[in-house]
Amino acid sequence: MPEIPDLMEKIVSLCKRRGFVFPAAEIYGGFANAWDYGPLGVQMRRHIRDAWWRAMVQERDDVVGLEATIITNPRVWVASGHVSTFNDPLVDCKSCKARFRADQIDLSAPCPNCGATGQFTEPRMFNMMLKTYIGPVQDEESIAYLRPETAQGMFINFENVLNATRRKLPFGIAQIGRSFRNEITPGNFIFRMREFEQMEMEYFVKPGEHIAAYDYWRIERMRWYLRIGLNPERLRYRVHPKADLAHYSAGTTDIEYLFPIGWQELEGIASRTDYDLRQHSAHSGRQLTYFDEETKQHIIPYVVEPAAGVDRAMLALLCDAYDEEQLDNNDTRVVLRLHPLIAPVTVAVLPLSRNEKLVPTARKVWDLLRPHFDTQYDDAQSIGRRYRRQDEIGTPLCVTIDFQTVEEDQAVTIRERDSMQQTRVPIAELVPALRAQVDAMVARAANAAAAYEPPLAWLHAQDAEA
Ligand code: ATP
Repeated sequence: MPEIPDLMEKIVSLCKRRGFVFPAAEIYGGFANAWDYGPLGVQMRRHIRDAWWRAMVQERDDVVGLEATIITNPRVWVASGHVSTFNDPLVDCKSCKARFRADQIDLSAPCPNCGATGQFTEPRMFNMMLKTYIGPVQDEESIAYLRPETAQGMFINFENVLNATRRKLPFGIAQIGRSFRNEITPGNFIFRMREFEQMEMEYFVKPGEHIAAYDYWRIERMRWYLRIGLNPERLRYRVHPKADLAHYSAGTTDIEYLFPIGWQELEGIASRTDYDLRQHSAHSGRQLTYFDEETKQHIIPYVVEPAAGVDRAMLALLCDAYDEEQLDNNDTRVVLRLHPLIAPVTVAVLPLSRNEKLVPTARKVWDLLRPHFDTQYDDAQSIGRRYRRQDEIGTPLCVTIDFQTVEEDQAVTIRERDSMQQTRVPIAELVPALRAQVDAMVARAANAAAAYEPPLAWLHAQDAEA
């Protein structure tokens, strides 16, 4: 697994050049650590969300969806503990005024920004929730918060979902949506931003069953990253020591990815006990309980929460997929080896040239494919350069229309991204042929995920040590 030098810079540059990610408000000089997603970024993010939703809701019989508001009753954040404890310790360098999270730097070492020693202010707690005001009067009464996580939406709707769906434990509620945190040290491209998107699921179980559920979701979530094509060598677990656990947690395990900035959290799986439902019951006065038919008792379910980020998953997928391949003619081919269901474009339609004989058939082929795949039509410059452009954005399959197509056989060439192998297929059989190639690529990643042996004994040893 050779390291690619300056990988992050290369990805940032590729993302801007090809329309994945743009600096936010660039024409106004930008807006620190905020990024806008361009046409290809939008497609890729949609695919990441779809893959998550498919695995977490659609393919399962025990999870339902929810979309709660971003701004809600501020009492929710009092009950959840965010108003009092969603704090990071902040220090300033007295010399250069740079700000750091005290838990992320060594306070006895020189300032990472200017190198001055012994210059940090005392850590002070800083609440990370972004505030706003609701209504025309801006006073204490009208303060509201932009949600710092999507999870609370599931807890405050627990009773509604239970009544509406008549679910039996165990069951889960899943949500995808934007969250906001006034991060002290955002940065590293889309790794840490103040506005980002989460994919979270709260899985409710009977007390006592949470330990098995915690194991189950730790494994299941790792498998998901393998299913969408991440390299297992760049993935690992990190079990949090008890001293570092969030106020609600009986155990937290991160799935970490080896980003160009080192091993970092990609997703957190937290065993949240009955903390949240208990808090909301106490603060709202509504008993958020579940009637257990077996024991004829009302119980407060325990919760296991896998919490992932769309942006962070996207960054990991881009880093993982980026490859520079040396070709025979001393040339370098940049290729994003993205999973076919994650790549922004699945099939590119490329007429050999803009020759008027080719165009009508090429347009017809494009019309044929659009209902079935995410496609792009490209007829600018030489076919070789267009293949390179598609390689660079990770398009797994290209379809080329040439003179033989229109003059002889009504067949086209499919060119596969990774092997660069070409096969000739009649237009009449093109959709199933492309689908078969996509399915084969999906199956390869799925088989890798199925073959994954979860290090359960190791995890349990870590749990015990923590
Ligand atoms: P960190 O320790 O990196 O601040 P966290 O443990 O606070 O993260 P969680 O609250 O567990 O993060 O959030 C779940 C997921 O949401 C993270 O694993 C990450 O993928 C994503 N996420 C959290 N904060 C951000 C952010 N500021 N920018 C982008 N994604 C984020």
